[in-house]
Amino acid sequence: MTANAAEADKPSHFLRQIIERDLAQGTYASRTFAGTPGDAAHHATGPADPARIRTRFPPEPNGYLHVGHAKSICLNFGLAREYGGVCHLRFDDTNPEKEEQEYVDAIVEMVKWLGFDWETPDPLHPGASRSHLYYASNYFDFMYFAAEALIEAGHAYVDEQSADEMRQNRGDFGHAGTDSPFRTRTPAQNLARFREMRGGVHADGAMVLRAKIDMASPNINLRDPALYRIKRATHHNTGDTWCIYPMYTYAHPIEDALENITHSICTLEFEDQRPFYDWLLDTLCTLGLISRPRPHQYEFARLNLTYIVTSKRKLRQLVDEGHVDGWDDPRMPTLVGMRRRGYTPESLQLLAERSGVSKAGGWIDYSSLDIALRDDLDAKAPRACVVLDPLKLKLVNFAEVFGSHAHREPCHAPVHPAHPERGQRDFVLTSEVWIEREDFMELPSKGFFRLSPPSVDAAGAAVAGARSRLKYGYVIECTGFETDAQGQVSAVLAALVPGTKSGTPGADAVKVKGVITWVSAADGVPAEVRLYDRLFTEAQPDAGGRDFLSVLNPAAKKTVLAYVEPGLATAQADERFQFERHGYFVADRQDHAPGRLVFNRTATLKDTWSK
Ligand code: ATP
Ligand code: MG
Repeated sequence: MTANAAEADKPSHFLRQIIERDLAQGTYASRTFAGTPGDAAHHATGPADPARIRTRFPPEPNGYLHVGHAKSICLNFGLAREYGGVCHLRFDDTNPEKEEQEYVDAIVEMVKWLGFDWETPDPLHPGASRSHLYYASNYFDFMYFAAEALIEAGHAYVDEQSADEMRQNRGDFGHAGTDSPFRTRTPAQNLARFREMRGGVHADGAMVLRAKIDMASPNINLRDPALYRIKRATHHNTGDTWCIYPMYTYAHPIEDALENITHSICTLEFEDQRPFYDWLLDTLCTLGLISRPRPHQYEFARLNLTYIVTSKRKLRQLVDEGHVDGWDDPRMPTLVGMRRRGYTPESLQLLAERSGVSKAGGWIDYSSLDIALRDDLDAKAPRACVVLDPLKLKLVNFAEVFGSHAHREPCHAPVHPAHPERGQRDFVLTSEVWIEREDFMELPSKGFFRLSPPSVDAAGAAVAGARSRLKYGYVIECTGFETDAQGQVSAVLAALVPGTKSGTPGADAVKVKGVITWVSAADGVPAEVRLYDRLFTEAQPDAGGRDFLSVLNPAAKKTVLAYVEPGLATAQADERFQFERHGYFVADRQDHAPGRLVFNRTATLKDTWSK
């Protein structure tokens, strides 16, 4: 029954089952749409839009999106795509004080970056497309109109109790609430009062409009919830037109209904709000203000990823107190940060899909994200050789083997080992190269197979220096090392074994256990490499009320001066690579430039965190 056969291998979950049921039963087949949501004409006219689902991603533009939002975006846009439907991007901008255009722009950019869009063919104008980007604030007129209708029908009243009185009279889980003394006002009295609220006659907070439902309901959300409050605040979209604003719980169902949303998918904390969602929409249907079939709300467990925090307050604290270098710091779980770190849209889509959709909350280990990244990039990312902790290696017999100390011996490596058609990387072997410091041990420990100098064993017999292969080059044998004034190893000495070049018949003549990566000291290009790791040392940084700042990982960013193979000198910002043996890296989108190479480590090749 899945609309797109290519998606057939995706595991089913309860939302897919609900959508498939609704498509099979034609639940929304009679729905029509036209014009602009919020128009009176919107519901009455327009061509039928059968067998189409409509979902929405409804961010409040009051902060930067994070990996949890990516889950919601992938789910809502993904389901719409999968079932041939439409997903709306809707800014839930009903809270004028905290919302800004800057966040609107950033959210638009990140949803696009994740690979989704909100343009669909326009059913009213063949050949044209239609943008499904909406603002809740564009429906303020309708919301107000609906509020008056609720008042006239006796479903809402203006309450002038103080905030304290309202709180006390709400009751609690064990105790029914108490009716407000204002609850018995007539519709005419309420309407007059509400119009005064709108007209700016009363002070902020002096009164609210409440739904008239049931002060004894076991669900506290049904105990006459507030619908409108007085708030003199300039709105980013409507300016000073309004001094009353709808409450989120009132606005959201109406937004869904006006946009003809079929499946309104949200996280579990809204489960207790669903009875009000249903009450409001059913009441508005009865009053003829919206038409059936109306939208329905479905809740799923939010994505909880270990080793990060997602609370907007905590993310802001990390930025404001300088624990990270801004919202797009590659250590941040914001989407701007993760993009800069090098995570791909595809890896986030994979994480969203693999973390599943369920009613039971749980934790997804951070390693799942890195696994998704590796699964995405392994087949795509070009390879490169890079030395992150450079130690000089001098080839003592280089001039003897090649006839000149200045000789440049061409070497080749595949751009991608599984895709020879992608061509090869060319670089040269020179008499001095950079190797990783960890590839040399003066006194090798057991099982160390890379480079160590000649020695004498316990019986007094001479032991030759260790042999390794310079990857894509020659087998070499360590002949000694040099130290600096502090006794630190400053260079490794080795002899090249002639006739053992990779890719030649002699390559297999000498068997070695160690293979080491290297970069020519003559041609290698210096680069700043930022080695990023998890931002926190504990899986649940704020568990049990712990101060999350106390478990910041001081090693989450380490900057090194590296040498990279010459081909990387032309890398473009945002270009991703697998640095052989080190992991996946991206050229930093802010700081990388020709002549100043800056790479960020996205993830290592293997998980280093599992115990
Ligand atoms: P706030 O605390 O300000 O409400 P929020 O994270 O809920 O923050 P919204 O802008 O309201 O921010 O979120 C937009 C959408 O993203 C909502 O539908 C919300 O349920 C969803 N969302 C937020 N966090 C997660 C998460 N961790 N997993 C899945 N969905 C999420
Ligand atoms: Mg929210």
